[in-house]
Formats: sequence, structure tokens, C-alpha cells
Amino acid sequence: MTPGKPDKPEKPGKPDKGKKKHKPTLADLEPAPAGPDECIFCRIVAAELPSRQVYADDHAVAFLDINAWHRGHTLVIPRRHVEDLVSGEPTLPEIAPAVDAVARMLKDRLAPDGINVLSSAGVAAGQTVFHAHVHVIPRYADQPGFTHLVNPVEVPEGELESVWRQISDGS
Ligand code: AMP
Ligand code: ZN
Repeated sequence: MTPGKPDKPEKPGKPDKGKKKHKPTLADLEPAPAGPDECIFCRIVAAELPSRQVYADDHAVAFLDINAWHRGHTLVIPRRHVEDLVSGEPTLPEIAPAVDAVARMLKDRLAPDGINVLSSAGVAAGQTVFHAHVHVIPRYADQPGFTHLVNPVEVPEGELESVWRQISDGS
């Protein structure tokens, strides 16, 4: 018998959650999510920060993404602060009518060839702003498929204004 070693091996059982070693995750590398007071999207809802709003109802607000992946890239967010779509009270049912309305408006006004609807929950999923949001992304035939989906380009001066007018006025 080796000194210090138990006679019998411990029975394998369910891991004790209390004693479980912390497994490092991407979240350890990222800054903590902002609370409602410092949340940029709450400040957009409160009109303390500017946005190019294209839609609003009692539960949701939608505005152009400043770093558009594709022309007309829009974010739909709940008015109340919640970190993501799978935290707290269910948020998706509350903002679903807005997502639907925005997707149809973009389809109507911008005549894209397709649309992606996407939401990221958690750092590992790529979330960078911790106020729930749904990306509604018009897609164009010259940049097809998933490989071209997450493809932020520097939006040229005047472009956000031009697409905002096209969506908002229907012109
Ligand atoms: P995600 O990475 O899924 O959390 O998406 C956050 C999105 O918010 C990114 O696409 C950013 O470009 C966008 N964003 C950040 N700040 C603003 C802002 N002030 N106005 C509009 N969009 C923003
Ligand atoms: Zn917020």
C-alpha cells in the first residue's frame, strides 16, 4: 500500500458541483457585461445616445447597426434591459412582432435577395453588447452564404444616412 493513498478507490459518482474546478471560459477574458445604468442600448432607448431608428413599438426599438455587416443591417432590441434572449423573463415573444415588422420593412424597402435573423447570447456566441438584441440583416446575391455573413466593412460616409432614408421614407 502506498502511504497516503486510500485502501479503496473512491466510488465514481456524480461530480460534486460545489467542489468542481472552475473551467476557464471566454467570459474570463472579457469585461463584465454592463448593467442597465451604463448600457449603451438602454441609453439609445432613452434617447441619450443617437441612433438611426427605423421602427418602435411599446416593447421594442429598432435602429441601424453602426457597423453594418450588410446594407440595412438593423438591430431590434427590447425597451427593458435584459442581458440576452435567454436570461430573465422571456423576451423573444415580446419583441417578435417588431422583428417580424422590421424584416418585412427591410424586404419591402431595400429589396434584398435574402435576410438573416440572428441573435447571440453570451461571449462564446459572439455577443459584445449585453442588452438583448436581434440582428436583422438584408443579404445580397453578390455576397452570398454564411461565409459572407459576419463581414463588417467600414461603412462609407453618408451610407448609413442614405440607407436610413431609403428605409424610413420608402424613397
Ligand atoms: P453582438 O456582437 O451580437 O452583441 O452585436 C452588437 C452590435 O451592436 C454590433 O454589430 C455593433 O456594431 C452594434 N453596435 C454597438 N454600438 C452601437 C451603436 N451605438 N449604435 C448602433 N449599433 C451599435
Ligand atoms: Zn440595457
